[in-house]
Amino acid sequence: MKDTKIRIFEYKNQARTFVNKLKTEGYLVGFVPTMGCLHKGHLSLIEASKNQTDRTIVSIYVNPTQFGPNEDFDQYPRTFEQDLAQCERLGVDAIFVPSDQEIYPQGKQSLFTIHPPEQYIDKMCGACRPGHFEGVATVVNKLLNILPADKVFMGQKDAQQLFIIKKMVEDLELTTDIVSCPTLREPDGLAYSSRNNNLDPFSREIAPALFQILTFIKSEYLAGRTDFKIILKKVDKDFVEIFKHISLEYLVAYDYDNLHQVNILKSNTLVAIAAKIGKVRLIDNVILD
Ligand code: AMP
Repeated sequence: MKDTKIRIFEYKNQARTFVNKLKTEGYLVGFVPTMGCLHKGHLSLIEASKNQTDRTIVSIYVNPTQFGPNEDFDQYPRTFEQDLAQCERLGVDAIFVPSDQEIYPQGKQSLFTIHPPEQYIDKMCGACRPGHFEGVATVVNKLLNILPADKVFMGQKDAQQLFIIKKMVEDLELTTDIVSCPTLREPDGLAYSSRNNNLDPFSREIAPALFQILTFIKSEYLAGRTDFKIILKKVDKDFVEIFKHISLEYLVAYDYDNLHQVNILKSNTLVAIAAKIGKVRLIDNVILD
């Protein structure tokens, strides 16, 4: 019979032993890596894991090495008690909640790191956040070694991250399956994000514009208008009021197979946006069918 009490692991060895034991007992293990402050987007990944595997483990770790020196590491919301209650409610089997000391016992000075190929990180969030994807790839690699799950559930919301992790798993012959899950949104289209909690009321009102812009581009494409430069000119015109209130970092189109630039929109094009709204940096994307 299934043990219904959630386990909380702070130490790598406990978590690794738990996953390995489940696997030897024949269970299919799902893993959902997160930075906590769980919202409906995270919960949808947990539900996907519950549907597709026998046991689900969630990690909650705000990884310092993926934040730049002037980024929001200190302001990143931390809500462990609520996260725990949500995981219990959904029937998660275990949570891995390590300290920095546990993940980086030697500090960050002499750490072996994963450096993704330049062509994957010289654009979008990689270009805006130097060192970010080295931090992400390194910590995900560590987490996959600590928790050798059969399937790992990750969100399309962080499209460049998902792309890089899939390539890393393929190139480094890791034996887990990365399962991509669709972006969950508020009723007004704003993608759920832990950072939405830090939006002031005016910024929260403006924030759904990111998805409106992406939806506009998608509708142009579906109507047969595929020249991205021409579409961007229309975006500038139609969203002129919005652009007065947000600081656009990028609005770009890349082939989602290889992250090559796309000038003429086609199937499997990633259209991605990042902007600072008030003090909060948000990202979103769509993939064209
Ligand atoms: P984070 O806690 O922001 O590191 O996110 C943990 C996982 O949740 C990542 O795989 C994200 O892509 C995924 N995620 C974040 N927001 C959403 C969302 N709105 N819908 C679906 N997945 C999401």
